[in-house]
Amino acid sequence: MPVSESMVKEVVQEVLAKMQISEAAAGKHGVFRDMNEAIAAAKEAQKVVRNLTMDQREKIISIIRRKTHENAEIMARMGVDETGMGNVGDKILKHHLVADKVPGTEDITTEAYSGDRGLTLVEMGPFGVIGAITPCTNPSETVLCNSMGMVAAGNTVVFNPHPQAIKTSIFAVNLVNEASLEAGGPDNVACTVEAPTLESSDIMMHHKDIPLVVATGGPGVVTAVLSSGRRGIGAGAGNPPALVDETANIRKAAQDIVNGCTFDNNLPCIAEKEVVAVSSICDELMNYMISEQGCYLASKEEQDKLVATVMDAKGRLNRKCVGRSAKVLLSMIGVDVPDNIRCIVFEGPKEHPLIAEELMMPILGVVRVKDFEEGLETAVWLEHGNRHSAHIHSMSVDHITKYAKALDTAILVKNGPSYAALGFGGESICTFTIASRTGEGLTSAKTFTKKRRCVMQDYFCIR
Ligand code: NAD
Repeated sequence: MPVSESMVKEVVQEVLAKMQISEAAAGKHGVFRDMNEAIAAAKEAQKVVRNLTMDQREKIISIIRRKTHENAEIMARMGVDETGMGNVGDKILKHHLVADKVPGTEDITTEAYSGDRGLTLVEMGPFGVIGAITPCTNPSETVLCNSMGMVAAGNTVVFNPHPQAIKTSIFAVNLVNEASLEAGGPDNVACTVEAPTLESSDIMMHHKDIPLVVATGGPGVVTAVLSSGRRGIGAGAGNPPALVDETANIRKAAQDIVNGCTFDNNLPCIAEKEVVAVSSICDELMNYMISEQGCYLASKEEQDKLVATVMDAKGRLNRKCVGRSAKVLLSMIGVDVPDNIRCIVFEGPKEHPLIAEELMMPILGVVRVKDFEEGLETAVWLEHGNRHSAHIHSMSVDHITKYAKALDTAILVKNGPSYAALGFGGESICTFTIASRTGEGLTSAKTFTKKRRCVMQDYFCIR
């Protein structure tokens, strides 16, 4: 009897079920059933990694870069299919950005002090095995970017990814290990469990072999990590306001804000979540957004329907709406719009639930304020003290300076779309872990190191 493809698939699934291994994890490097096993494997791998030369570490990073470019579309599609969030085109760009702009070993530098009493070096050493918790909004992007920085710094990493994005996260973990093996490094430089839960996360956060935990996600996980008794790096939630004053180039501001807000359907934590506009230019801004930037003006009745659809009575987000396009969100309230509609706009008070809450959807409420001073106060209120990201469109150096000081955020983009802060059309590095709560800001390899002082008394000063 000829063996068909479906018969082979059936047999493979039966074998996997008997072995209790999920299809996503089968044959993948770095995937374990149990969190303790994953940590033990990462610990063994770290013994090897810490003895690799910087050149060898860099070789691993460069192969991760190549493989990320090669698999960008696959991971983008997997992410959208598995989570239902975001869009494939923008996710492809995000992966290329990770491959090109996440720093490697060049980020690890040494401070030196030399003088009459000798030479002192302050070097950046690895922590060991780092525990990392990753979100479903940028799943493979975060696994790749964390792995690159952590391995460049001489660590290995164990992930507890978001359960809703486990297949995509496992794909990225496997890619990292394949890169290490191809470079002559060890397997299991990145590890994970095939079925992450709050329990596996708890084991990881309290394990004796995990000296540092890095959490990328909402307020719940960051608080959990910071209460773990371990050193924690907390990359938490934001609700970035974009302020537009009377000195701005209004047409460009409309374009930049809508481009930033709609990137990957508003999933990035840095993306514009609401607009604060000075009254004298508010109508002009709204006109440009509607007539030139594909925005749909929602009526009061449609706003109410959106509130009832995107959140429940307690104000919790409906996960089925997070990262959906404007067209899909509007279809959920019975409004059919052409494909070129990419954002929903309306004017409302700052307390409006679609404005005050971090939605992660292309819905932009516009709060009208009488002048810059009122706009500043409104933006501070809307950012909720997250100290994460804020954006401003203004030609006044005085306004920009006051705004930067008052908002006190890890990221502030002036006169550009929010994604410029990730190095996309802006200068500098890329990361998908922005440590807003704990103050490290944009994380990179050096964030995942500890300082070590090495002193030679009375020698090696050759001045
Ligand atoms: P989420 O908080 O629901 O989940 C993030 C991760 O934390 C997941 O792996 C989840 O399983 C885990 N988790 C949640 N609660 C936990 C708890 N009490 N203990 C242990 N683990 C827990 O977030 P999400 O929906 O995946 O991502 C969106 C949120 O993350 C938004 O608030 C966004 O602003 C934020 N985010 C921040 C950054 C940043 O760099 N600052 C980057 C991406 C996303």
